[in-house]
Amino acid sequence: MKILIVEDEPKIGNYLRQGLTEAGFIIDLARDGLDGLHLALTENYNLAILDVMLPGIDGWEVLQGIRRAGKDMPVLFLTARDSVNDRVKGLELGADDYLVKPFAFSELLARVRTVLRRGGITKEFEFLRVADLELDLIRRRVDRSGQKINLTSKEFTLLELLMRRQGEVLPRSLIASQVWDMNFDSDTNVIEVAIRRLRAKVDDDFEPKLIHTIRGMGYVLEAAE
Ligand code: CA
Repeated sequence: MKILIVEDEPKIGNYLRQGLTEAGFIIDLARDGLDGLHLALTENYNLAILDVMLPGIDGWEVLQGIRRAGKDMPVLFLTARDSVNDRVKGLELGADDYLVKPFAFSELLARVRTVLRRGGITKEFEFLRVADLELDLIRRRVDRSGQKINLTSKEFTLLELLMRRQGEVLPRSLIASQVWDMNFDSDTNVIEVAIRRLRAKVDDDFEPKLIHTIRGMGYVLEAAE
C-alpha cells in the first residue's frame, strides 16, 4: 500500500513517514504543494495525506488538482485549523476525512485504515495471491494453504512488494529503497537476512517454493516448478 504525504513541517512529516513505514506502508513525502501534486499525478497511491497550509500551493489546491486530473484516490486532510468552514470546504472538495493537529499517531493510523477500507478499494485490491499464498492488505494477514503465517511489519512489506511484482526479478537496491527507504547497495546483508527469514516462514513447509534467488541480480517471487 502506497501513501503520499504532503507536509512542510519536517518534524511532522518525518514522524508520519516513520510511523506509517513501521506500520508497513510505502511512503513518499513531499515538502510543498507543487511537489506533492506532481507526485500525486505521476505515481499511483492508495491514499494521500495532505496538510492544508503549504508553501507554493495549499492543500485545497493540491486536492483540486488531483480531482481535476480524474484521480480518485482517497484524501485525508491534516490541519491545525479547526473551524467548521474548513471542515465543510475540505469535504466539499472531495476529501475523505479530516484530522486536526495535534493528533495521536494511533488516531491517524485508525483513520488511514478506515479510509482505505471504504475508499473504493475493492476486493481485488484487498488481496494479493500467488499459488496458495494469500496476503490480505487490509487486515494485514498472510496465509498459505489456509495456514496463518506470522510476519513482522518489514517482512509483510517485503512480501507485499515481491507479490505485487511477481515474476519480476527485483534488484537488492530496489528492495532496499522500497522496503527500508534506504538508497544504498553496500549493506545488502540486511536484505539477505530478511529474505532468509521470510523464506523460512513462507516456503520451508510448503511446495512449490515461491521465493527464488537469482544470482548476482536479486530476488523473484513466482510459482515456477
Ligand atoms: Ca503546514
